[in-house]
Amino acid sequence: MDRLIYLDNAATTKTAPEVVEAMLPYFTEHYGNPSSVYGFAAENKEAVSKQREIIAGALGAKPNEIYFTAGGTESDNWALKATAEAYESKGRHIITTKIEHHAILHTGEYLEKKGFDVTYLDVDENGLVDPEEVEKAIRPDTILISVMYANNEIGTIEPIREIGAIAKEHGVLFHTDAVQAFGQIPINVDECHIDMLSASGHKLNGPKGIGFLYIRTGIKIRNFIHGGAQERKRRAGTENVPGIVGLGKAVERAVSTMKERAEKEKEVRDYLIEKVLKEIPYTKLNGHPTKRLPNNANFSFRFIEGEAMLLSLDMAGICGSSGSACTSGSLDPSHVLLAIGLPHEIAHGSLRLTLNEEITKEDIDYVVENLSRIIGNLRDMSPLYEDFMKKQAK
Ligand code: PLP
Repeated sequence: MDRLIYLDNAATTKTAPEVVEAMLPYFTEHYGNPSSVYGFAAENKEAVSKQREIIAGALGAKPNEIYFTAGGTESDNWALKATAEAYESKGRHIITTKIEHHAILHTGEYLEKKGFDVTYLDVDENGLVDPEEVEKAIRPDTILISVMYANNEIGTIEPIREIGAIAKEHGVLFHTDAVQAFGQIPINVDECHIDMLSASGHKLNGPKGIGFLYIRTGIKIRNFIHGGAQERKRRAGTENVPGIVGLGKAVERAVSTMKERAEKEKEVRDYLIEKVLKEIPYTKLNGHPTKRLPNNANFSFRFIEGEAMLLSLDMAGICGSSGSACTSGSLDPSHVLLAIGLPHEIAHGSLRLTLNEEITKEDIDYVVENLSRIIGNLRDMSPLYEDFMKKQAK
């Protein structure tokens, strides 16, 4: 099997060749420490500043509002823990949602153990958060609202502008985890009244282990990592210069290709959705039909166990991801699929396919042909399916 069709771009993406090329000299030639005073290191310092400008420009922010981190997880941890610590004298209540990434949910649980009260809002059947519910959840002691820009499993894009306006009106800080959305859809922090935003390089054809937290000027959340004076003393540690250069290049690339890429991915994605729903019976599309990331498709196939489906797809050279967390030692289905109201057995038979701009309709034909065969075979072995078909025949 030589064919590889990579449809797991929400998990991570290929580092773009121009990103790698931009990074290389920062390993081999410009390896100085940006904090050093001699001229040899000046190039590195400048390179870091330049990327800050590029990233800020992509968000409508100011360069000194961008703080480099080791990725989305760190940015999310920083936003929540440091806000909690800095504002606890004002209140100990945080609002978030049931469909956040574990980087937020587990940080919320940690804060609950520290005596904070966290409200996890429900979503509707398409995964949308209702801004009215956000407003209703606000209390006099609410210090932070954290709602993801777009969901990593079902691709639903949240009403961030409306939620931001509500947060501003009530004087509550607003953080958004934009790890999946940044680089895929336009984002402007001022238009959406975003106070903090997390993003990650490896989701937009940049390197892994680098990301940033946008922190609006004037927001006094605590410094996260203590040590040297890097990142205006808020996040200490020698800068990951090659990673930062790669992130900047990836952002530049993502912004300049966004419109064309999104149109292309949407067309192929819609072709995939239509074909799957038409050719594979007892199938449901998860996530909002239109308010969704251009490259995301998420299906539930009845009478199917997700892991078996993934392994069979893998044998055909197709990389996707399932909605269950069996690989992590738990048989619980995805918290996101449960939050949109799927019963356990249906959530278990879920498949997320996330495209990139290189995927063609011809690739999709190959994927659906294999998927249809695999699902047919798995259903033939399923006692549940057998019972169901017997009942149908009566
Ligand atoms: N938040 C969301 C929505 C994500 O999808 C991910 C990664 O999948 C993260 C946070 C964590 O990002 P990182 O892998 O850069 O730590």
